[in-house]
Amino acid sequence: MLFLPSPFEQRTFQNQLFYLKRDDLLDKDFSGNKARKFHSFLTHDFPQIKRVVSSGSNQSNAMYSLSVLARLKEWEFIYVCDHITHFLKENPMGNYKAALENGMKIIASANRTEEVQRWLDEKSLEVEEGGRQKEAEEGIKRLAEELLVDVKRHGLSDPYLFLPSGTGTTALFLQKHLPFPVYTCPTVGDSAYLQKQWEMVEPNLERYPTILETKQKYHYGKLYVEFYVLWQRLKDEMGVEFDLVYDPVGWTALLEHLPHLEGTPIYIHQGGILGNSSMEERYKRKKTIIKHL
Ligand SMILES: *Cc1c(COP(=O)(O)O)cnc(C)c1O
Repeated sequence: MLFLPSPFEQRTFQNQLFYLKRDDLLDKDFSGNKARKFHSFLTHDFPQIKRVVSSGSNQSNAMYSLSVLARLKEWEFIYVCDHITHFLKENPMGNYKAALENGMKIIASANRTEEVQRWLDEKSLEVEEGGRQKEAEEGIKRLAEELLVDVKRHGLSDPYLFLPSGTGTTALFLQKHLPFPVYTCPTVGDSAYLQKQWEMVEPNLERYPTILETKQKYHYGKLYVEFYVLWQRLKDEMGVEFDLVYDPVGWTALLEHLPHLEGTPIYIHQGGILGNSSMEERYKRKKTIIKHL
């Protein structure tokens, strides 16, 4: 059922041609770049493992994907976050709700590192926040191999990739395994942070992804009217729903730089749609913003 090649589609936005790699359509339950990153955990056997432990935000895409992985593997899933608001507890939604339905045990702790340590033993697998780890390479390499086939099949002679980064893991391993340029933008932290992450994971790479910055600085996970407007336009014109956290930053960066990038753009849709309901809820509660729309 899992991991057929994801669709590769041609679309237009503002009279410009884009190819989309639809990792959002990889599988109903296990999709997006977290599915790629956790692919090796899914396909390899871990006979001694009974539990997976991770930490991060209480609405993260990685958290949801880990809950699916744990369910499929019949592992206990312990997830540590900083805080769960009263509102979220009373109104479970988005990734949080779906992960709970998959059996996640979520623990709020002021000291995440310590709490994670408490749950680790020889039968536990620890997964870094956002799936930032070496094991991610296997699944992302597979995505790179699919892209090589897609590009050939569509006769693209000068393609380049664009995808927004969080940890930067996906962009890094894509560039490692592809002969054409990979462009990305930071969404968490700045360019220097992203570059440093890459050099820590792969100190001797010949070619790193190229960072494209947006003119304006945006804070991770914050609400911006222009993001909601762009997200809606992409949806109306392309008929594709993108993620509301990473993709508005990604498309802003790509559209700003498009005039001087040479070749045919391929945008990687990295999933995250399940998390949109909680973001939309936040936008709606910010009525002053919505009035503009
Ligand atoms: C996690 C995620 C990213 C960031 O991926 P990294 O490999 O951490 O850079 C981007 N988009 C979506 C939709 C994600 O879920």
